[in-house]
Amino acid sequence: MITGKTKCIGILGWPVEHSMSPLMQNAAFAANELNYVYIPMPVHPDQLATAISGFKALGFAGANVTIPHKIAVMPYLDELDRSAKMVGAVNTIVAKDNKLYGYNTDAIGFVQPLLKQGVSLTGKNIGLLGAGGAARAVVWGLIEQGVAEITIGVRSIEKARELVDIFSPLVKIQAIQWPSDEFNEKLRYCHVLVNSTPIGMYPHIDTEPPVDWSLFTNRITAYDLIYTPPKTNFLKTAERFNHLIINGAGMLVEQGAAAFTLWTGLPAPVDIMYQALQNTEK
Ligand code: NAP
Repeated sequence: MITGKTKCIGILGWPVEHSMSPLMQNAAFAANELNYVYIPMPVHPDQLATAISGFKALGFAGANVTIPHKIAVMPYLDELDRSAKMVGAVNTIVAKDNKLYGYNTDAIGFVQPLLKQGVSLTGKNIGLLGAGGAARAVVWGLIEQGVAEITIGVRSIEKARELVDIFSPLVKIQAIQWPSDEFNEKLRYCHVLVNSTPIGMYPHIDTEPPVDWSLFTNRITAYDLIYTPPKTNFLKTAERFNHLIINGAGMLVEQGAAAFTLWTGLPAPVDIMYQALQNTEK
């Protein structure tokens, strides 16, 4: 029940109607009997500065930030955590002592499902399809886990240059035209292949990233950041080739779980958050 003591958390985005986060987070608060509420906050890009002032003035305890505000919100925050600086975007705000702190939980959200499946990343070679906003969180998450090499398949090397330049002091990383023989040669030795393009996402579920699955000599992990549909053609084909598959639902839940912990200081009820997500898919 909402009372005078209820702590308010919101999600800032435009639009936000489609977001699963209110369901997931409210289920998590209820499960822990926490007096918190999580509400959608649709904010037009022209209104972001006003919205942040209002958010502060109204005494919100925290927020998630989604498209298109993840980068634009950064100048309005008092402090940025290393996660936000490295990913170059904020997806979680914590309000404390009249200050706003920006974090990014996408990188840990990406990594957790791999670790929970027992996939070791230390010293491993990673193939990554696409170099957009999500890819930067993926790369930072992989670097934190000590991977050996990241090879990104892109259709525009120029667009991937910034991503490669930022992280090349920290890991062996390169962007290669994809599809190409050169990219295939690198893929042959990869242990994990991540799809961070939207190819195969609803409603274009009949499409699939061009991957030559006959290349892999060992069993790899195929990880699609997409969660609608739960099993993309990318994952279906990988499964036919007997590879381990992971979809994007785990990343969605785990980034939310990490945000929950930042706001409440408590471990998140991850299973309940998964359940809330699955109920919406039925
Ligand atoms: P984004 O910033 O638009 O980046 C998409 C990337 O894919 C770009 O590098 C783009 O290349 C490339 N791409 C798109 N279509 C392509 C095609 N036909 N062939 C080759 N490359 C193509 O998007 P994003 O925010 O990174 O999101 C990417 C995917 O991850 C989406 O499906 C999104 O739903 C998913 N995602 C999931 C989670 C989660 O929690 N599970 C979180 C974030 C994102 P160009 O630059 O050349 O266009």
